Amino acid sequence: MKKFALAAAAVCAALTVCLTGCKENRQIEPISQSAFLLNTFVTVTLYDSEDQDILTGCLKLCGEYENMLSRTIEGSDIYRLNHREPGTRAMEVQEETAELIEKGLYYSKLSEGAFDITIEPLSSQWDFTAENPQVPDERSLEEGARKVDYRQLQVEGNQVIFQSDDTRIDLGAIAKGYIADRLKDYLLEENVKSAVINLGGNVLCVGEKPDGQPFRIGLRKPFEGQDQVIGVLDISDRSMVTSGVYERHFVKDGVNYHHILDPKTGYPYNNGLTSVTIVSEQSVDGDGLSTVCFSLGLEKALQLVESLDQVYAVFITEDGKIHTSKGAEQFLEELP
Ligand code: ADP
Ligand code: MG
Repeated sequence: MKKFALAAAAVCAALTVCLTGCKENRQIEPISQSAFLLNTFVTVTLYDSEDQDILTGCLKLCGEYENMLSRTIEGSDIYRLNHREPGTRAMEVQEETAELIEKGLYYSKLSEGAFDITIEPLSSQWDFTAENPQVPDERSLEEGARKVDYRQLQVEGNQVIFQSDDTRIDLGAIAKGYIADRLKDYLLEENVKSAVINLGGNVLCVGEKPDGQPFRIGLRKPFEGQDQVIGVLDISDRSMVTSGVYERHFVKDGVNYHHILDPKTGYPYNNGLTSVTIVSEQSVDGDGLSTVCFSLGLEKALQLVESLDQVYAVFITEDGKIHTSKGAEQFLEELP
């Protein structure tokens, strides 16, 4: 057995040398795989490897995290927590779930509840992707809003503690960023040093392009097609995440209903912002903060971002103007 492993290692080493040797003589074509996961289109692209198994590994990992963190998949940690027996005060979850809930609680506190991961009693009343989407009944939104309060929720080790039977969790605002970070860890373990992880617009760049230049990631023009961009961000080894009013939304009687909800009312925030894009090192922070900043509105969000280290923001307001936090200009090239 040992002999076989050694022989296999030798073959691998020889192959690696050959590949690196070959690489010097020709440009490797980027490879990518896509799938519909996490309720969105997921694409992973490798720029310095031709190993399809690594891409398959990424998509598999994505599916595993979805099965752990989704609020709608039966048997996920979040599903189990939300469907606990009345009176249950503590439940054990997987380490990653506990870690992510903790992160969500951190951002809930930081925003004083404008962002709140116990939003489920409200978010589950809206279905933005339904064929004929409806505005929920006002009374049931009021009732839902009374149940949203992150202060009723704590994490101790791998235990999730509830003070109330009404508390239910939705990690939709932060899970994709967390999962992107885990995919990056996996790629680094596999020795990939140049890649882009795109989880439905939640983009995490691993390293830079093989030619040493940053990746150029388009900033979408609100309400236009995917290919219409208002600017480009130059990103190396960082995350870029956008939260906007045009991703999951529907228009009814001239009102645009989108999926970032005010926990106090249950209705979407209407504060003049169209989108918030965050550049950060960890994608979980970019995802968390893009939703946090959206919830806070332009002024408070600018203050918050400028108080944080290595975090930059680009806001688009309803009048089509772009606003940047200090230092964000270094990444942004505005297009006409
Ligand atoms: P996307 O899913 O497009 O990346 P976001 O990261 O901004 O968008 O997250 C929006 C999701 O966050 C909603 O679909 C819902 O699950 C959840 N959510 C909505 N409002 C809030 C809020 N005020 N605080 C925390 N989570 C929220
Ligand atoms: Mg988010």
